[in-house]
Amino acid sequence: MFILLLGAPGAGKGTQGALLAARLGIPKITTGDLLRAAVAADTSLGREAKRHMDQGTLVPDAVVLGLIKDELDAPRAKDGAIFDGFPRTAAQAELVDRTLAERGQRLSHVLLLDVADDELVRRLAGRAGTEGRSDDTPETVRTRLQVYRRETAPLVAHYAQRGAVQRVPATGGVDEVAKEIQRLVGR
Ligand code: AMP
Repeated sequence: MFILLLGAPGAGKGTQGALLAARLGIPKITTGDLLRAAVAADTSLGREAKRHMDQGTLVPDAVVLGLIKDELDAPRAKDGAIFDGFPRTAAQAELVDRTLAERGQRLSHVLLLDVADDELVRRLAGRAGTEGRSDDTPETVRTRLQVYRRETAPLVAHYAQRGAVQRVPATGGVDEVAKEIQRLVGR
């Protein structure tokens, strides 16, 4: 089962993805975590990624596509995975769609975690205090929300065209949202 989590920064993709991955016993692939690990390890990919992450803009496809391809091709993602934080651009969506199609697989669910803007800003401000992420500052948060609207939100239409998007009202508590996801996924 392949499940794609879509939604703005702060919508709860990481939290809900982790719960879902544990329940279904499949891995969660999170490009943000992979990039943060590359930054921490100070690899050349990490150094290139950091410049963009610190600004709140997307790491270019030229850098990210290879990373995504490696993750999709890894044995652990052979039969199922949760995709968290990607695809974020049309080119990434194309890569994901094509890679699965070549293997005779497809996305089982595309879940759109839907949270109002003021709540997103409130959550990210709270997270800045607890997680200490360098890109949760007010200015970077504003940029990341703009980048989401411009580059990633159009993917909702891409998947909706195939009738594949399930909207999850995600303003409630973690348990409530998890229950709704369980209902939609059927497991
Ligand atoms: P996230 O943890 O998903 O909010 O990602 C944090 C930052 O990592 C983003 O603001 C981007 O700079 C970068 N990033 C994460 N995933 C991607 C991706 N799929 N494509 C491009 N940039 C990404």
